[in-house]
Amino acid sequence: DHSGVGFLGMGNADADYSSRPSSARIYDALLGGNHNFAADREAAKRLLAMIPAAGEMARANRAFLNRAVQFMLDAGVRQFLDIGSGIPTVGNVHEIAQRRVEDARVVYIDIDPVAVAHAGEILRDNRFATAVQADMRFPEAILAHAGVRRLLDQQEPIGLLLVAMLHFVPDDDAYPAVERLLASLPPGSYVAISHGVSETAADAAGDGVADLYRRTDVSTATGRTRSQIKRFFGDTELVPPGLVWVHEWPAGPQGDGDPGDMAVVAAIGRKS
Ligand code: SAM
Repeated sequence: DHSGVGFLGMGNADADYSSRPSSARIYDALLGGNHNFAADREAAKRLLAMIPAAGEMARANRAFLNRAVQFMLDAGVRQFLDIGSGIPTVGNVHEIAQRRVEDARVVYIDIDPVAVAHAGEILRDNRFATAVQADMRFPEAILAHAGVRRLLDQQEPIGLLLVAMLHFVPDDDAYPAVERLLASLPPGSYVAISHGVSETAADAAGDGVADLYRRTDVSTATGRTRSQIKRFFGDTELVPPGLVWVHEWPAGPQGDGDPGDMAVVAAIGRKS
């Protein structure tokens, strides 16, 4: 089955997933969450040894996600498709959105069975949100999924979130999949992307990090250059301040603009 949707144990995940680290659970461990296993915590420790600021980056990224959702709500967006949503943790999209708009709709997509099972539990009594296990490399299956069709109105703007996840998807899959997803969005929709960059100090750790993630459920972990990251936005128009360090969106560069150890950039594009 190559639909990439809706069943546990697809791909590498049918290995015993408590002994093999996953990108979702490593991130949860970095954020101090408790939905991870010893193997994930061990991988997070190795990652921190290579990139000491990884935990800080994860928190800055999570804070960007919050600001991106607030921005889209301000712009009138009432429905969200959060792909690579991760294990539910502080500041989930449905919490941010439904606090302001009770019936804001949210579809969470993740490849990780633990992330999806846990999200499903949290959302059991939430009529306006759902979690689906799917692989972003198969956008047709995502767009055709019953939960997506039930909750997302194709006549109204959608907020597409691809936050800290595209660096886990190789070029040949990532570019066409994002293009397909953007093509499916109604006019007035927005896309938020954050992404690891390969032009910084963290680059020195590149090989070690790629090697670490090769042992997880994702096959790659590659930073991309800013221009490679901008390509994902297609012909959407980047809203100010454009593509900036994740902690600088939307305020723009602060102080002397030194990013410190930051290696994640972000932008939001609007589809006309
Ligand atoms: N978006 C959340 C955030 O920024 O806080 C979580 C980011 S976490 C670093 C990356 C997530 O992407 C993980 O939960 C992982 O399982 C998911 N992921 C990786 N490859 C994926 C794919 N091909 N399709 C769907 N999800 C994927």
